Amino acid sequence: MPPPPTLRISEIFASVQGEGLRQGEPTLFVRTAGCDLRCRFCDTKTAWKGGAPMTVGDILGRLARLRERFPAAWVCLTGGEPFLQDIGPLVTALKREGLRVQVETNGRHYRALEADWRTVSPKPPSYAVSREYRRLAAEVKIIVTRELTFEVLRRLRGFFPPATPLILQPQSRRKWSAAKGLRLLGGSLRAGLKNIRLMTQAHKELGLK
Ligand code: SF4
Repeated sequence: MPPPPTLRISEIFASVQGEGLRQGEPTLFVRTAGCDLRCRFCDTKTAWKGGAPMTVGDILGRLARLRERFPAAWVCLTGGEPFLQDIGPLVTALKREGLRVQVETNGRHYRALEADWRTVSPKPPSYAVSREYRRLAAEVKIIVTRELTFEVLRRLRGFFPPATPLILQPQSRRKWSAAKGLRLLGGSLRAGLKNIRLMTQAHKELGLK
């Protein structure tokens, strides 16, 4: 019998979700290894390469041990870029365990999954997003980089339905980035763009992972 398939996993840990609308919620993180982009501002460069091969059973076992002391209801699959690997069986197994599943993606790749919450974070220079996420994204997270322009914000606001929040997130607590985020927010208000907000990375404010 062939060995069970594995996923390349960078790390697994317990914390709170620091970003987006789920901010502050207890969450177990599974960080997959590998990304098809090389963003200059990336704060998870350690996940670009490597990673340990783990089966779905290995991952569930690690999560079960973490849940003994931190019984969070949510698991967040993040990266790297989770959709570069076949995460479908993992998501199905997590749902079978009664867990709720968030998946974070740069939005360039789509796989049909049973996820409860999809966070889409389009990246420069193209900010390309697969069309399926227009309907499926629960939130859109946009890092306020040097490259981000108001025109990109306007384009993304036009792509996603008005009910889907666009979240401007300053780049790793940089003051220039927060100030730029506020300027972009002001421009959005003046232009009548709806449902855009500015949010921090709470885990970094709290000194957590
Ligand atoms: S898409 Fe995300 S994980 Fe990949 S390089 Fe960019 S910021 Fe890093």
